[in-house]
Amino acid sequence: MLVHRGVKHVGSRMCCRYASTNSGKQNTAGKDEMIRFRSHVIPCARENLARYGGRQTVTALPGDGIGPEMIDHVNRIFSFAQVPVDFETIQVSSENPREEDLENAIVSVQRNGVALKGNIETKFDDPHFKSRNMEIRRRLDLFANVLHTVTIPTVPSRHKDIDIVMIRENTEGEYSGLEHESAAGVVESLKIVTREKMQRISRYAFEYAMKYDRKKVTAVHKANIQKLGDGLFLKIASDIAMAEYPEIKFNAMIVDNASMQLVSRPQQFSGGIMLMPNLYGNIISNIACGLVGGPGLVSGMNFGDKYAVFETATRNTGTTLAGKDIANPSAFIRASCDMLRYLNFNEYADLISDALFETLTVQRIHTQDIGGTAKASELVNSLLENIEKSCVNSKYRFRS
Ligand code: ADP
Ligand code: MG
Repeated sequence: MLVHRGVKHVGSRMCCRYASTNSGKQNTAGKDEMIRFRSHVIPCARENLARYGGRQTVTALPGDGIGPEMIDHVNRIFSFAQVPVDFETIQVSSENPREEDLENAIVSVQRNGVALKGNIETKFDDPHFKSRNMEIRRRLDLFANVLHTVTIPTVPSRHKDIDIVMIRENTEGEYSGLEHESAAGVVESLKIVTREKMQRISRYAFEYAMKYDRKKVTAVHKANIQKLGDGLFLKIASDIAMAEYPEIKFNAMIVDNASMQLVSRPQQFSGGIMLMPNLYGNIISNIACGLVGGPGLVSGMNFGDKYAVFETATRNTGTTLAGKDIANPSAFIRASCDMLRYLNFNEYADLISDALFETLTVQRIHTQDIGGTAKASELVNSLLENIEKSCVNSKYRFRS
């Protein structure tokens, strides 16, 4: 049974503790891997976030399926570690959809600047039903989707040493929502590619590479077939690479080959960035997530100039798992750590991320999606114990 004693202040000292707790046990993972497991997040540049008395208000959008129980896990962890974040919860769900829910969600993110989001189910049998997820991204102009896929020691995977950042254009391309039946039985579906958005996402990827020392950017395209649309993307990315970032290696790969290379020799992309337009980005990112353990493990970030929304990488609802305490909460917990980094609460992010890393790799608490038998709540209990141990071992004192 855990006793919540309250953390007065937390420090990122799990690395030292890791070395000591791991001694005597099989050395399954190292300090480097724990650090790699932490995400890289470009911190928020905005001054006017909703922060009062040091506490930040964040919009929680639980969504459908497992989303609500995942937010509950994060809430439990945040209150245990005394993270100075308060959630403003807005329900947007595909059950009884109301236009005002979506408006409330968008206004709330505009006010708070930041959201933690579960996925909202999109009906695909009704052509008039717009994806709420897409609407949120489009209205908030969250143009960059960023994922960091890394292999996690002890989590079964076909390949080792994967460390790939995926940067995906998040607002246009095949996701324009512009489709019509021009004649009976003939459907036109428009893919929109604009110079402005392709420049924006390309520069974002190169800036990220500079900041986090990623050695190579690979643009993934199908310019041999989509000569104008993907051709424009490819030209812009390679022009920017040559003219503005000569120190970063740049190459291009056709999307079908990229898929094959990713499943057969993913290490060739490690240490680099895959830069992708919207739909290829969606598919390639899902392949990469599958390679490092699946939908329950990887987080995804969505950035615009003003707002950021944090969610799981593969954006699933996991509806069939809901309410059973079996869905892997790791992806959601990592999304909450990404969010803390964005808010410059790095010590809390490290504390929670490192505690989760230990739970997965030292205690080996694995849920059934990665071959284990643990319940989600057992994983969270172990994580809280690790936080507790970390704080006891740290030089910081507890409140009595
Ligand atoms: P569904 O809504 O039918 O459950 P999704 O498309 O939402 O399916 O998810 C795709 C697959 O990923 C499903 O097999 C689902 O069980 C699995 N999945 C999604 N999220 C998680 C999670 N957090 N932990 C374990 N498995 C997950
Ligand atoms: Mg689903």
